[in-house]
Amino acid sequence: MARYSDKQFAAYGLDPAAAAAIREQFADWHQEAHRTVGRDRCCEEAHL
Ligand SMILES: [Zn+2]
Repeated sequence: MARYSDKQFAAYGLDPAAAAAIREQFADWHQEAHRTVGRDRCCEEAHL
């Protein structure tokens, strides 16, 4: 999810501030995933 650019978010009608908030939301979810399923089993793309 982190690879989505502002332009891609804009395509959904989101301004950069809203896009940043969503990225933050996904980051929170990602940290939660590390706690629940473990880092080894979470999406590897997010660790690039
Ligand atoms: Zn992860």
